[in-house]
Amino acid sequence: MLISNEKYDVIIIGAGSIGLMTAYHFLKMGGKSVIVLEKGYLGCGSTGRCGGGIREQWGSPENIILAKKSIDIWEKLPKELEDDLEFHQGGYLILAFSEEEAETLKQNVHLQHKFGINSKILTPEEAKEIVPILNTSGIVLATYNKRDAKASPFRTLFALKKKIEEMGGKVLTHTEVIGFKVKGKEVKEVITTRGSLKANLVVNATGAWSKIIGKMLGENLPVEPYRHEIMVTERLSHLFDPMVISFSKGIYFQQMPRGEIIGGIGNPEEKPGFFIQPTSWFPYHFAKTLIEIAPALRHVRMLRHWTGYYEVTPDAKPIIDYSEVINNVIHATGFSGHGFMVSPMVGKIVAEMLLGKSPSIDIEPYSIRRFREGRIVRETGVVG
Ligand SMILES: Cc1cc2nc3c(=O)[nH]c(=O)nc-3n(C[C@H](O)[C@H](O)[C@H](O)COP(=O)(O)OP(=O)(O)OC[C@H]3O[C@@H](n4cnc5c(N)ncnc54)[C@H](O)[C@@H]3O)c2cc1C
Repeated sequence: MLISNEKYDVIIIGAGSIGLMTAYHFLKMGGKSVIVLEKGYLGCGSTGRCGGGIREQWGSPENIILAKKSIDIWEKLPKELEDDLEFHQGGYLILAFSEEEAETLKQNVHLQHKFGINSKILTPEEAKEIVPILNTSGIVLATYNKRDAKASPFRTLFALKKKIEEMGGKVLTHTEVIGFKVKGKEVKEVITTRGSLKANLVVNATGAWSKIIGKMLGENLPVEPYRHEIMVTERLSHLFDPMVISFSKGIYFQQMPRGEIIGGIGNPEEKPGFFIQPTSWFPYHFAKTLIEIAPALRHVRMLRHWTGYYEVTPDAKPIIDYSEVINNVIHATGFSGHGFMVSPMVGKIVAEMLLGKSPSIDIEPYSIRRFREGRIVRETGVVG
């Protein structure tokens, strides 16, 4: 099917969690004409490959605010979308393996309390009460927050698409944006593999590919794709509820409602680039680290292992900002390993910007110009 000459108030490029949450909030707030363009199938980007973890235990005000306000929305989302998103608040347990790491986690909890988050510092024994398969040896302390959660990325994307279409919006898959017709400092037309569309406003929600869209617009966005590997095991009887994370070991794992364990580990040697092939580094290092933390899992079978991209900025924090070169473009990208969890609030903020309202949180920490101005502070806890 060819498309041409259709005109929309808003064209969103990318049907991942950020693009679809934006379209949903735009329509919910009274916006009328919106189309989301996706080059592949629904979920082919990072969202459909992600771990589905959702946490508000962060270590900087900007990450805490986005995550906390997102959980406020996540709690209502299954009802609003009238769908089972497998949203479950089983908490996150974050482990510290050195005094230095323990000190950072304590400071994080102190900061989280200032924002009304009910996170707790636990002894290793208290952590074992929550995750009975935990090997406490080497653990200095843990932090825990019951409100942290998980949800199914695929169920969320499909539920959003259905709701967007019911509300009068469009989601067009297998339609790649390949260029723009720009007049002065405005995009007039979005050129796709299936024809051109006219737009008043354009959102770049293409995650790991957002730098490519930036380039088409003559803008240099500092967002690089980094391969991240993840696996799923066979189904087990219920063993534990929370997502378990260690920042120093780079690992996270959780048990899903049907019993399978999903987890990943970051390879510190990974270089930026579009490398989608799984590596033999992963199964060995993941299994070794998992068994150190939870020895009872040593006989569990890995069923499948796949990869996706983190979309990483120099400080691993997002860009939510107007383009610096084209007046009618907004970029919402650079969410590193946590774009799924914050997508509800990001979608809301971008929708507010599209509707000419002032965003309900301060977006200055997510500006593009912070990189030029050298205001780059990287948080340690960005594993997933
Ligand atoms: C293995 C792994 C585990 C992760 N675990 C978690 C986790 O537990 N919790 C969490 O919050 N986050 C996690 N993340 C990060 C999270 O997946 C991303 O931050 C998030 O999905 C980004 O969403 P997005 O909508 O910006 O990007 P995407 O989901 O990648 O969506 C962007 C879309 O744009 C499309 N696109 C690109 N170029 C074009 C074009 N030219 N025309 C049209 N369409 C285009 C792509 O095909 C893609 O579908 C994980 C990521 C990975 C890889």
